[in-house]
Amino acid sequence: MSQQFELPTNATEKSLLSIVVPVFNERVMLPLFIARVIPTLEAMNIHWELVMVDDGSEDGSADYIKELITRTPGIRLVKLSRNFGKEAALTAGLENARGDAVIVMDVDLQDPPEHIPAMVECWRTGVDVVLMQRRSRSGETFLKRWSAHLFYRLLSRTSRTDIPVDTGDFRLMSRKAVNVLLQLEERNRYMKGLFAWIGLPTQVIQYDRDPRAAGDTKWDYPALVGLAIEGLTSFSISPLRWATIIGLVAASVGALFGLWIVIKAMTLGVATSGYPSLVAIISFLGGIQLLSIGIVGEYVGKAYMESKQRPLYVTEEVVESPQRLRRQNT
Ligand code: UDP
Ligand code: MG
Repeated sequence: MSQQFELPTNATEKSLLSIVVPVFNERVMLPLFIARVIPTLEAMNIHWELVMVDDGSEDGSADYIKELITRTPGIRLVKLSRNFGKEAALTAGLENARGDAVIVMDVDLQDPPEHIPAMVECWRTGVDVVLMQRRSRSGETFLKRWSAHLFYRLLSRTSRTDIPVDTGDFRLMSRKAVNVLLQLEERNRYMKGLFAWIGLPTQVIQYDRDPRAAGDTKWDYPALVGLAIEGLTSFSISPLRWATIIGLVAASVGALFGLWIVIKAMTLGVATSGYPSLVAIISFLGGIQLLSIGIVGEYVGKAYMESKQRPLYVTEEVVESPQRLRRQNT
């Protein structure tokens, strides 16, 4: 039966929407997620597929999805051989998505599925990327909100790519945008930055980020600090420059101080009691040197990882519902 709806500029009746969700130990979240996302998709006039990437879960998430697949059409499971991290899981999902438009979202319902129709509407007006920007973050600690705020500002200051503030991975991308993204071959994938790098016409929709519905966040502070360093060093070489500048300033201050001591001793005959100032200078310079070596190391390490050209992830198996595409009202 054919469908009646306004002819979109960017989409035909045949358009397929892919929803890509990375899943890592989310057994408790999965039923809740499915219960909200499927009715939302069903209510839309579009073909859809749900690509769930199991990122090496150890709590039976993959088995749950497999079981779900036997009774629900439209779902595909891409099971990775171990935990490769969210960024790799997202890439795996994008590579396995066949949609004309692809929406990336978390399984923890922090990105409310009810926004999907609005995103698709927006895509149909002709934009390639629909960015979901967080107006609020409820249910996150003050420290997390504050550090996220600071990080996004620092990132947009330092990098040449304009990475929009307060946007996560929740977004819609056209086929064109996805294809460009998949051409980027780098191993260190800071997705938010890569998403921004591609450019293309973008529309921002603001939304309120909900608290995680169940289960625990997979990010502890060390992991977040790692991601932040990744983000800063993937999209900017200005930290290298800071190291140079700080080094220059420290060296100049040291030289001037030394000069001053010599002049003081020669003109006034005052012998400087040097021990405290010496300790101060040595530890100051030592710190600067370690910092600079660390920054350089970040980049060298990155170049090393890139040079190995390993695949980003290993797929163990792909399982899909017998009837891949699902269309409502037909
Ligand atoms: N995730 C993943 N691999 C990981 C860590 C997380 O696929 O190594 C998934 C996780 O299942 C969820 C999403 O990434 O769907 C976001 O994770 P989480 O909610 O823990 O992060 P937060 O929202 O706290 O930043
Ligand atoms: Mg979350």
